[in-house]
Amino acid sequence: GWRSRAAFKLIEIDDRFHLIKRGSKVIDLGAAPGGWIQVAVNRGAGAVAGVDLLMIEPIPGSTLLQADFTHPGVDQQLIDAIGGAPDLVLSDMAHNTVGHRQTDHLKIIALIEIAADFAIRTLRPGGNFVSKNFQGGDAGGVLARLREEFETVKYVKPASSRKDSAEVFLVALNKR
Ligand code: SAM
Repeated sequence: GWRSRAAFKLIEIDDRFHLIKRGSKVIDLGAAPGGWIQVAVNRGAGAVAGVDLLMIEPIPGSTLLQADFTHPGVDQQLIDAIGGAPDLVLSDMAHNTVGHRQTDHLKIIALIEIAADFAIRTLRPGGNFVSKNFQGGDAGGVLARLREEFETVKYVKPASSRKDSAEVFLVALNKR
């Protein structure tokens, strides 16, 4: 079975956009407990690497790092683990919310910016990026940058994402 409910969200996104192809190189940011990693391996990705602050039980077919993605050098470790430029960068990174709306929003935006920056720097041309985002989180700056760097940028709310949550996913297709 899948390790997380989150797995169903990636399944829905991938059924719609066909991002995970046989042999794809995939990097997953904020990967614990490993649901998205399982989906990527299961759908035939050729090389999969994930990182989380938390330890992730091993998943055959993947390399899993326990680290803070924002620390220097972790990005390169992920690239080395898949052996070069990724075809797909995924980020489901989220902080434990502190309950203070503005603080939570700022932290969320910071993580999206870091993930987007990594995707823009490392994806091969034609590569794709998926990131968790929150409605009302004012990701305006990062959105404008993604629109410059990718052919298509969409917001997706999977049916498996709780309707009463502000969670949405940014899907950026076809890096220039
Ligand atoms: N997609 C995962 C799955 O399918 O199992 C669920 C991911 S969970 C919603 C979000 C994760 O982001 C948490 O496990 C958290 O530890 C991780 N996270 C938050 N900030 C991080 C950071 N700076 N570096 C690495 N992981 C981080």
